Amino acid sequence: MAARKRVVVIGSGIIGASIAWHLSRRSADVTVIAEDIGGVATPNSFAWINASWGNPEFYYRFRRRAMTEWKRLAGDLPGLPLSWCGSLCWDLPPEQLEAFADEHSRWGYGIERIGRAEVLRREPYLAQAPDLAVAVAEEGAVEPVAAARMMLADAEAHGARFVTGDVSGFIRRGERIAGVVSSVGMFEADDVVLAAGAGAIPLAEGVGITIPLTTPPGLLVHSRPFEKRLNGLVIATELHMRQTADGRIVAGSDFGGSAPGEDRQETAAALFAKVKANLTDSAGLALETFTVGYRPTPADGFPIIGNAGCAGLYVAIMHSGVTLAPLVGLLASNEILSEQPEAELAAFRLSRF
Ligand SMILES: Cc1cc2nc3c(=O)[nH]c(=O)nc-3n(C[C@H](O)[C@H](O)[C@H](O)COP(=O)(O)OP(=O)(O)OC[C@H]3O[C@@H](n4cnc5c(N)ncnc54)[C@H](O)[C@@H]3O)c2cc1C
Repeated sequence: MAARKRVVVIGSGIIGASIAWHLSRRSADVTVIAEDIGGVATPNSFAWINASWGNPEFYYRFRRRAMTEWKRLAGDLPGLPLSWCGSLCWDLPPEQLEAFADEHSRWGYGIERIGRAEVLRREPYLAQAPDLAVAVAEEGAVEPVAAARMMLADAEAHGARFVTGDVSGFIRRGERIAGVVSSVGMFEADDVVLAAGAGAIPLAEGVGITIPLTTPPGLLVHSRPFEKRLNGLVIATELHMRQTADGRIVAGSDFGGSAPGEDRQETAAALFAKVKANLTDSAGLALETFTVGYRPTPADGFPIIGNAGCAGLYVAIMHSGVTLAPLVGLLASNEILSEQPEAELAAFRLSRF
């Protein structure tokens, strides 16, 4: 019988957790090492699961498949905090909204054009409604930290180890990466997965690999729990909102967060005032907190997934990691364990830069 592959995963955000979960389900010997449980960008995410506008068809298809992979994962992990609540979108000039609806309908996305009265029937607490919105019933959201923690806990139940620590470099054996060096010791591995979000940049640099990544900040406001005011995701003009299962309204001027500006407190207060102005019967709605997350965004906007150009080192870094996590976990674990390339990942290699 072949020995179990030893894999060290650096990172416990939604991407590291998903890769670790998929590996552990396939009997790999998995160690996850991270400075936290649940990630850095992940807790600050809007967490909209979508294949919405603005992407070329190949990436739309990848995202759409990821949406279905969330359903597969939910079947294996009952209780995942997913909500297939659907979305209403009108944050595009009318001709672009129409073009988005036409294009995505052609591609088979579940697009519906709805008018003002129907928008208000679906979201009766909106203070303003557009003449035209695009509704997509198949979109949803997930509570990403809870999902990452569930995947990690289940991976541990299947034999994975979770270690809290700071990775400072790699063990090298000739040309090969053969493990990690960390604040809590050295961990040998057949493969190391760098799912460290923005933290991947210095670690890769240490072995001469450049990861072209920007980390734009995004501010989101979070209300205190409140009565139901939103049924689904509302992607309104420069105001994207959703309500979590525990009643918190999360909002940004964009799902990727607002620019924090010079005074973050002031930006958050102005944004929250806009949320309240856009919801009726919301006098008692109160701001609980705001977050500023840094989005790990590869230079061309597409994920970086695959061998890092150095034997034994695999990278998985992306924006839209919340949408993509279950598919990335599945395909990355296939590649790591089989050592065969997955055709669906061909467009996402680091070597394209
Ligand atoms: C404001 C905002 C809104 C967003 N909205 C959406 C959205 O609506 N939909 C969507 O799909 N995506 C969205 N995203 C993007 C998505 O959240 C990210 O792509 C995803 O969370 C990245 O997850 P990750 O696991 O790769 O990284 P992270 O969550 O950043 O996790 C990185 C992990 O690496 C670990 N780490 C780093 N360096 C080291 C080290 N040296 N040693 C040990 N551990 C280390 C950290 O401890 C952490 O566990 C948004 C992001 C932000 C910030």
